[in-house]
Amino acid sequence: MGSLKDKVVLVTGASRGIGRAIAQAVAAEGAVAVVAARDEAKLAETCALIEAAGGRASALAIDVASRGSVETAFAKLLEAHGRIDGLVNNAGVTRDTLLLRMKDDDWEAPLKTNLGGAFLCTQAALKPMLKQRAGRIVNIASVVGVTGNPGQANYAASKAGLIGFTKSVAREVASRGITCNAVTPGYIETEMTAAMTDKAREAMLSAIPLARAGRGEDVAGAVVFLLSESASYVTGQVLGVDGGFHM
Ligand code: NDP
Repeated sequence: MGSLKDKVVLVTGASRGIGRAIAQAVAAEGAVAVVAARDEAKLAETCALIEAAGGRASALAIDVASRGSVETAFAKLLEAHGRIDGLVNNAGVTRDTLLLRMKDDDWEAPLKTNLGGAFLCTQAALKPMLKQRAGRIVNIASVVGVTGNPGQANYAASKAGLIGFTKSVAREVASRGITCNAVTPGYIETEMTAAMTDKAREAMLSAIPLARAGRGEDVAGAVVFLLSESASYVTGQVLGVDGGFHM
């Protein structure tokens, strides 16, 4: 408890799933969780869950794929909180389909949100972080950005790109006291994976040495570590949270 006491941490894609679990975990560690996504009703639910557990949260409407929306949201965040200590780029979408059937829009949507969103939010967060000479950025990539996956060339490319982005940003800002790391979740049970067929789910589970699906909390634990003082000498790293699926 308390490893993020009074830090202001922005979590994108916190209206459900892994992002909500991350927001709950950072708030449980004493941070003010600024929870961001497009669905404001769901963001209010995330805030209510955090507040019911004794934590602090505020909601921020954002479309990470839009520069205008990101700039407006960061202006509001800085007006309300005066600083940003941590950014978790978690917002993400899939558009699964085999490559030969992939339309231009299927290709572009994951790149625009998963990679482009991290670009826009990181750029906006770096301005105050550089002034503070401190900050933590954690990008939620995916194990498929490392291994590839049939039917996910678009999504895997966005997540592989996010890993290269993470390492480049880490090198650019390390001298200013800012770290940037990535987490690569494996199979985590959320709405995103609910669409999987039973056959695909069984095949996935049989390939996981820890023999269970992951939970949002599993990812949140790794993120809290990377945001905390304990990780002050860790940057440019890719931390797998996948039950040993890829090692
Ligand atoms: P969900 O689909 O459950 O949640 C996705 C979140 O992203 C929602 O809060 C959604 O909110 C938000 N989001 C999507 N597009 C935008 C946008 N343009 N602007 C702002 N927010 C957006 O997914 P998960 O919780 O499963 O996934 C979270 C992250 O973890 C993603 O980056 C995903 O790629 C990654 N991941 C997930 C794995 C899994 O097994 N579940 C495995 C590996 C990685 P809203 O619709 O309200 O905007």
